[in-house]
Amino acid sequence: MSEFLASNHTQDIYADALVWDAHAGIFPDPKIDLGVLSEWRENGATYVSINVGFDVMDWQQTLATLAAYRRWLLIHNDCFMLAGSVEEILCCKRDDKLAVSFDIEGMNALNGDINMVALYHSLGVRQMLFAYNLNNAAAGGCHDTDIGLTRFGFEIVREMNRVGMIVDCSHASYKTTMDIMAESTAPVVFSHSNPAEICEHQRNINDDQIKACAQTGGVIGINGMGIFLGDNDVSNKTLLQHICYVTELVGVEHVGFGFDFSPGIDVDIGAILKSRPDFWPAGQRYDTPGIKHASPSQLPDLVEGLLDRRFSESEIRGFLGENFCRVAAVAWQHKT
Ligand SMILES: [Zn+2]
Repeated sequence: MSEFLASNHTQDIYADALVWDAHAGIFPDPKIDLGVLSEWRENGATYVSINVGFDVMDWQQTLATLAAYRRWLLIHNDCFMLAGSVEEILCCKRDDKLAVSFDIEGMNALNGDINMVALYHSLGVRQMLFAYNLNNAAAGGCHDTDIGLTRFGFEIVREMNRVGMIVDCSHASYKTTMDIMAESTAPVVFSHSNPAEICEHQRNINDDQIKACAQTGGVIGINGMGIFLGDNDVSNKTLLQHICYVTELVGVEHVGFGFDFSPGIDVDIGAILKSRPDFWPAGQRYDTPGIKHASPSQLPDLVEGLLDRRFSESEIRGFLGENFCRVAAVAWQHKT
C-alpha cells in the first residue's frame, strides 16, 4: 500500500472498493515481463486493462504479444487472472488476485479485416480504440486531419457491439469520436483522456465529447500522464481538478481512472519510437524531459482528497471502479 497514512475511513473505503484502471501504458511487446503488474496488485487494484498493440506496430506483432501475455497470465494464475467478464473480476476481488484483460490502441491491428474483431475478443481483448493519434483505414486520429469514421469504421462499431467489446474513443479525432458515440448501441468510454478545458492538448477532449460520452452512459477515465494533466504535474490536487471538472459538467456517474501508467520495463523501446516520430508530433509536449505519471499508489491519498471535497462514499466507489464496471456489464454482453 501507499506510504501515505490514510485515515481509517479512507482505508475502509479503499480496501473493499472495486478498483478499476481502464488503461495501463505498459509498452506492448512479447518480451515484456508482466511481473510489473504486481505494482497494481500491491496497490490494491482489482482490474487493469493492458494494451497488446497500437497502430505503430503491425498486426502480427499484436498477435505475438497476445500469445506471450496470455501464456504469462495463465502460468501466474496464483496472483493474476485473464478475466473476460464482470463475474470473473468480482471473483478476483474476493480471491485477492489482479484481473487483467487486453485492449488494442488503433484498428491497424485488424489488417483491414472485420473478422479479426471476434478473434481478438476470443483471445481476451475487451476494449479497442479506433486510431492511435494518426488516421487509419477506420478512423481519424487526434493529431491528424479531423476526419470522421470511415465506412469500415462504422462496421467495426457494430461488430464490437455485437461481440461484446468496450468501444473506446481515446486517441481519436473529434469527428471520429462523435460518429462513434452516435453509432454505438452500448455505452462508450474515453479510457484515458482528460478535459481540454483544464489542460489544452490535442489528446484531451472538449466539453461536447464529454457530454456525448455521458449521454451514452459511458465513462471518462482520467489519464495520469503529466503532459495531459497540466505542466507535468501529477499531484492529487491536479487529478482532483480534472475529476471535479468532469463531475460538474456531466455528473458523478461518468468518471473513472485510466492512468496510462507503466512501471519501468527492461526492454529497449527507443528504436520503434524513434522510427515513427510522426505519431507524437512536435509542439504537443512529448519532448518534455522526465514526463511523470500518476500511479495507482496515489489512490488512497486521492480518496482522502475526494472525501475532503464532500464526495460521498458511494460516489467515490463509482470513481474507483463501479462506474467503469457498470459500462463493462453492459458492453461485454454478447448481442447475437
Ligand atoms: Zn494511449
